[in-house]
Amino acid sequence: MDGSISIYIHVPFCVRKCRYCDFPSFSGLSGRMEEYFSALLTEIREEKLTEGRTAETVYIGGGTPSCVPPAFISGIMEELSKKYRISPDAEISMEMNPGTVNPEALKAYREAGINRVSLGCQSFNDQSLKRLGRIHSSEDILKTFDLLREEGFENLNIDLISSLPGEKKKDLIRSVEAALSLKPEHISVYSLILEPGTELYREYEENRLKDLPDEDETLENDLAVREMLKDAGYSRYEISNYSLTGRECAHNRVYWNRGDYRGFGLSAASLTGNRRFANTDDLVYIKSPGKTLKEDRILSDREAMEEFMFLGLRQCSGISEAGFMKAFGYSITEVFAKELQKQIKDGFMEHSGDRYYYNDRGLDVSNILLAEFIAYDKI
Ligand code: SF4
Repeated sequence: MDGSISIYIHVPFCVRKCRYCDFPSFSGLSGRMEEYFSALLTEIREEKLTEGRTAETVYIGGGTPSCVPPAFISGIMEELSKKYRISPDAEISMEMNPGTVNPEALKAYREAGINRVSLGCQSFNDQSLKRLGRIHSSEDILKTFDLLREEGFENLNIDLISSLPGEKKKDLIRSVEAALSLKPEHISVYSLILEPGTELYREYEENRLKDLPDEDETLENDLAVREMLKDAGYSRYEISNYSLTGRECAHNRVYWNRGDYRGFGLSAASLTGNRRFANTDDLVYIKSPGKTLKEDRILSDREAMEEFMFLGLRQCSGISEAGFMKAFGYSITEVFAKELQKQIKDGFMEHSGDRYYYNDRGLDVSNILLAEFIAYDKI
């Protein structure tokens, strides 16, 4: 198989487990970093399916990739460059947490080729950061952001979380203002999701989480955030993502457009054509890198079409009729006429030229609308 590909590398180590986090990440396991990275190198070295292809994006996520020695990150980049042709203008992103980097580490990341950083800020409200169990303060964010700029990183994302317990609209607005004052190229604002198995979820189950914003407050807050970002020149290009012109995250775009991607590391997922496979979530990965899978299957056309809809429509530019025809050999209206017509009639979706896309009203309730494309009658 040829063509371009995106690469994901999973680094599952964190300094401390945050109280809302259900990502595959572990704290207190720094003693296993060396063997984990050795397993990662083995998995990359043994890759046959996608070797030789051109990597247009690389994303090193986690976990907290910035809490491992930088030499591990450089080693991975070096191995990738032997296996793939890394495009000269590839977007190479790395997730970092405030307070976990110093100038030497940042220099090493730059030398390794990292040219985009996603900074897990979450809030600029110190009380909220404590409640989330984050290890950093708002001051750490400011210092880390300055360091990143000083070291020459020109493409930075700030991650924020809305709908936090105890936060009022003014608190969220203050966080967004603080983020804007740093002038990042990209801002993501995700709503807090209470995931089973997390400490915050336990608090909720035991009826101790009494200060979550209600649905109306959440909608009002989200609207305020959208307006602020728009006024500051950030375009919303996906449900939760905003950027300055030309600074959209190319790697995430590949996911939403169902491009091919290859994930390496514990729990990492891959999609090549219609084959989806994913590594185990367990640390057994270290013993058999890339050999213990939690999923490996060929998606049916129907499943792939559903994915095309519910991933593509997350983006504000929506989906293209020609794209659907090219991917599946069917016209989109042969398959999804009923759902599309209903969502247009209900005022959530627009159809213009070749594209279907949600308006702001549709994006606000996109979780419900996107689900309507799943489990339609078989064609
Ligand atoms: S730093 Fe990120 S991955 Fe690690 S525990 Fe916190 S939220 Fe989870």
